[in-house]
Amino acid sequence: KPRLYSGMQPSADSLQAGNYIGALLQWRDMQSSYDAFFSVVDLHAITVAQDPAVLREKTRRTAAQYIAAGIEPSKSTLYVQSHVRAHAELAWILSTITGFGEANRMTQFKDKSSRFGADATSVGLFTYPVLMAADILLYQSELVPVGDDQKQHVELTRDLAERFNSRFGETFTVPTPVIQKETARIYDLQNPTSKMSKSAESDAGVLWLLDDPAKSAKKIMRAVTDTEGSVRFDRENKPGVSNLLTIYAALSGRQMESIEDEYAGRGYGDFKKGLAEVIVSEFGPVRDRANELLADPAELDRVLATNAAKADAVADATLADVYDRVGLLRRV
Ligand code: ATP
Ligand code: MG
Repeated sequence: KPRLYSGMQPSADSLQAGNYIGALLQWRDMQSSYDAFFSVVDLHAITVAQDPAVLREKTRRTAAQYIAAGIEPSKSTLYVQSHVRAHAELAWILSTITGFGEANRMTQFKDKSSRFGADATSVGLFTYPVLMAADILLYQSELVPVGDDQKQHVELTRDLAERFNSRFGETFTVPTPVIQKETARIYDLQNPTSKMSKSAESDAGVLWLLDDPAKSAKKIMRAVTDTEGSVRFDRENKPGVSNLLTIYAALSGRQMESIEDEYAGRGYGDFKKGLAEVIVSEFGPVRDRANELLADPAELDRVLATNAAKADAVADATLADVYDRVGLLRRV
């Protein structure tokens, strides 16, 4: 089976609707056809300040949400990034073939660092895309299912793989991003032209996978719309309503047109109520299952350890090859 790799940062207690719709749903559907590696990327999360005890808990919670959403740890390799040392080691090697200017063109760094200022921004946040390239290339991944915010990082990964291959000989598979057209970007409910994010400055527009259903419903009822009053998709002129329609269609598995028809001539209130019901019925079971898994952290840790060993085996082989090709003297 062809290899597939993807990951999420344990940067919040819960994943948000964009992670679920833009990434997890694809992962779940693809896991049987691919040799899939799904990582909880804690080394990425520490590129911004994290409380150590809280980070450990968020890491478990993220893993639990993968499983609760349908990722099967017996089929897919579901592990914690820092458990596999090769990620950090390959990232160092790749950083030596990454141009400073090239790294400096990454827009996610610009967006995130502009919030902190130069001195509060870590060098780790700057080299984040290089670590991500290491994640993907270690497993010789062919496909990388992500939201469209990660497209530029996967393109950098392709460039680095090609550069390494041409400089040192064929070593890495050059990966391809898989980005779902309709759901590539879910927007913030209060600010429907910016991406919904775990680390948004305000969580008023963020729908959390593990949130209390009543709270999620309230957020939907307060979501920004427009004054036109008709439920139809028009990204340019009706970003709020279009985003709600995207979420509705993705979670219900229905066609957008059938939803537009259902709410034709009715107000946004009805539409939002309908969407809130869809969210509660889709997120509810995931939340319950995640909480069950979190009630037995020792078992969860065991599953993660078994899977880290599977990941280690693949990653170590790639890394040994890389060390040889670069000319690092073998320790005898
Ligand atoms: P953070 O704010 O900490 O960066 P995040 O919400 O952006 O968190 P990540 O862990 O960075 O989440 O990304 C995990 C995956 O979810 C990636 O594949 C990313 O492309 C995808 N993703 C994140 N936000 C969205 C979104 N709003 N719509 C669609 N996909 C998304
Ligand atoms: Mg992100």
